[in-house]
Amino acid sequence: MPADAPTTPTDETNPGSRLLEGLTEQQRLATRTLEGPVLVLAAAGSGKTRVTTRRIAYLIERGEPAWSILAVTFTNKAAREMRERIERTLIEAGLASGTPRGLICTTFHSLCARLLRRYADAAGLPADYSIYDTADQLTLVKRVIAGLELSTTNFPPRSVLSSISNAKNELIDAEAFERQAGDFSTRHLARIYKGYEAGKRQAGAVDFDDLLLLTARLLGEDATVRRECQDRWRWLLIDEYQDTNRAQFVIASLLAGTREERGRDPNIFVVGDPDQAIYSWRGADITNILEFEERFANATVIPLGENFRSTAPILGVADTLIRQNRQRKHKDLFTSTQGGSRVEVTLCRDEGHEASLVVDWFKRFGEEGLDGEGRPLAWRDMAVFYRTNALSRAVEDELRRSGVPYVVVRGTAFYQREEVKTALAYLRLAANQSDDVSLTRVVNTPTRGIGKASLAAAQQFASERGLPLFEALRRAEEIPSVSARAANGMRAFVAMVDSWTGAGTFMGTDVAASLRDLAERVIEESGLEAHYRKLAAKQAEGEEADASRVENLEELVSSAAAFEEDYDPADDPMRFDEAMTGDAGTAGVPDLLGVLRAYLESVSLVADADLESSEDGAVTLMTLHAAKGLEFAAAAIIGLEEGQLPHSRAHTSEADLEEERRLCFVGITRAMRRLHMTASRYRTVRGVSERTIPSRFLEEIGTEHVTLSDQSDPFAGIEGTGMGAASSPRRLGTGGPRELSSADEVERAAAGDKLAAGLAAGTTVRHPRFGIGVIETVSGGANARAQVNFRGIGLKTLVLEYARLEPVD
Ligand code: ATP
Ligand code: MG
Repeated sequence: MPADAPTTPTDETNPGSRLLEGLTEQQRLATRTLEGPVLVLAAAGSGKTRVTTRRIAYLIERGEPAWSILAVTFTNKAAREMRERIERTLIEAGLASGTPRGLICTTFHSLCARLLRRYADAAGLPADYSIYDTADQLTLVKRVIAGLELSTTNFPPRSVLSSISNAKNELIDAEAFERQAGDFSTRHLARIYKGYEAGKRQAGAVDFDDLLLLTARLLGEDATVRRECQDRWRWLLIDEYQDTNRAQFVIASLLAGTREERGRDPNIFVVGDPDQAIYSWRGADITNILEFEERFANATVIPLGENFRSTAPILGVADTLIRQNRQRKHKDLFTSTQGGSRVEVTLCRDEGHEASLVVDWFKRFGEEGLDGEGRPLAWRDMAVFYRTNALSRAVEDELRRSGVPYVVVRGTAFYQREEVKTALAYLRLAANQSDDVSLTRVVNTPTRGIGKASLAAAQQFASERGLPLFEALRRAEEIPSVSARAANGMRAFVAMVDSWTGAGTFMGTDVAASLRDLAERVIEESGLEAHYRKLAAKQAEGEEADASRVENLEELVSSAAAFEEDYDPADDPMRFDEAMTGDAGTAGVPDLLGVLRAYLESVSLVADADLESSEDGAVTLMTLHAAKGLEFAAAAIIGLEEGQLPHSRAHTSEADLEEERRLCFVGITRAMRRLHMTASRYRTVRGVSERTIPSRFLEEIGTEHVTLSDQSDPFAGIEGTGMGAASSPRRLGTGGPRELSSADEVERAAAGDKLAAGLAAGTTVRHPRFGIGVIETVSGGANARAQVNFRGIGLKTLVLEYARLEPVD
């Protein structure tokens, strides 16, 4: 059936739908305006996500097949929540009993990974392609740089990768990059880019950015594929649209199609809030919002208005802060609900003090509830946000000590652990024997007598013949200069990997029966488990590290088993024909390789912003980036210090600073009823306790909606001990943190001027931690700072009072 048969539902057929209940007039309009492009630009908490899910339920109520709906959001967690919300809505409205078949709620990256899997041939990829993560990319790019006889000093691998990534997000491939390359260094960069691409192609691998780039290209160049996708998806919805990058915009546009292709305006619905754009470093671009109106000329633009999430003081703080951004079109942030507690701002002594303060605050709610309601607040309604993961540790310690359950949203961290990565590399090799990067990682881990020289010989043998490394190992005895011992090791290694999947063996006698079985056998037969057990046994008492490595390996097996349990290939919404005909009977038992690929894919796509396990009844700890789109009754934002938030990386430009401000704004607007923001006078960074400066954002939020409390003992050491003032909380209803100790400030300003006077731009200095650098700019006053460009590290902004910079000549 052509997708655009004239059966499009109209509004009038069901004006009294229950699905429109509990929505404002504007929200209803956004839910019901089904035809054509729609752009909802609205403030935080104004119901954008609510409208998106209602709209999907509404479409289904109208009889639109679920498989014709494609919803894209930013994180796997958000996608999962969206699906659950739709399901609940449909059940409540008596419209369905479970997840509607074929409905896709997903992220751009997952969508692309699936499309590339399905259209691997057309995309020029092997069906079993691997997805490289940062560590894999680094391994490969280093190899390419060395192969081109360039130095990693002139071409630091990380910055090379970030240039490549930026290019890809702008849809500039290696060839185009080369054409554009002007100067000497860019031409070399183009060579590295090309070598890097070739390396991936040979390994049958793609990186994260490729998922988008290749999909954009596939949809752009292959009319059949494009047509097939357009035929299937008649309804496209995108949440958090402000954070889509160029490549994602292009993919969305191609999926939506043009008026000519569809014979009418495409039904694309996007919601976003420019004030919450926090991924410009990933190539997300606010111009996409402008482009939307250009590309989809007849777009209906719908504002939403009122915030339904937060109390007036919280919104007051958020609004006061975001008004400081100049690159912005003002949007009112308001609620019609009166009342609500002031936002608390506390200056603490150090991170331990900060942690105990926040945990005590939560415990009070856990016992008494909010605002003396007497009904305890559940742990799951509380969260702590921070700029960088490193800040979570002190809070974790305190929560543990207090017996408060918590979960840390750490996304990739688990899968980035050395032992877990190694085990996954074995699995990836089992799935794709051309994956040389994985092979190199595991071939001699644990040791099996394959030394560096033998491996290099095998590599040479492989590259001369254009073979994957694994094939070279298979022919170990043909390789000159490989020792007999190494050749034995290679043969045993090949036999082991083959035995897991049945590749290369007759009938595959001992093939793993399930993914769980495979994962178990991998960690056992590879010797990994024994290796870490031995290390753990050797370890001194009190050190847990290596014992937990064995547990992590076991955890990986559990994760594989859990995945397998949930996995039903018939449910794979990408199976177009089955999804469209509703015929699920043909899917059959999933083959091991299919489950393995799907599992590895899901692991690769776990992003920082994804919840690993969202146990109910636990306090959530997460970065501000991960908090996007979520809401909690009580939230604390910790580490509001210069260098943390705004992050030191952001001092270079006004645009970066505005992005940090939006990030802080995102954090504030997650809180529904109570918000606590803290800064710590001293913070331990890599083992060294450093004095900090409260974040400028604490001043920028104003004083009107804030209760400020300085518990940082500003006079300790001046007035001696036991003076009282330092140990009791001092409530200051007005005045920013800088006004706290003005005498102190005057003194510091003078001291700052003196420090700055000794350091001019261009001076070479030494820093105890960052080493040698050259001063770029310097400013005096109470917070005298210098921007220093450190060798191999880059630009850092340092506070002179604490930086201990020494001029060197
Ligand atoms: P963000 O910009 O943070 O993603 P959003 O615009 O997506 O926010 P939602 O998460 O959809 O906002 O809604 C915020 C909160 O307000 C939710 O708890 C939602 O259930 C509630 N809400 C939205 N609209 C209404 C309404 N009309 N009546 C009552 N509650 C509402
Ligand atoms: Mg939302």
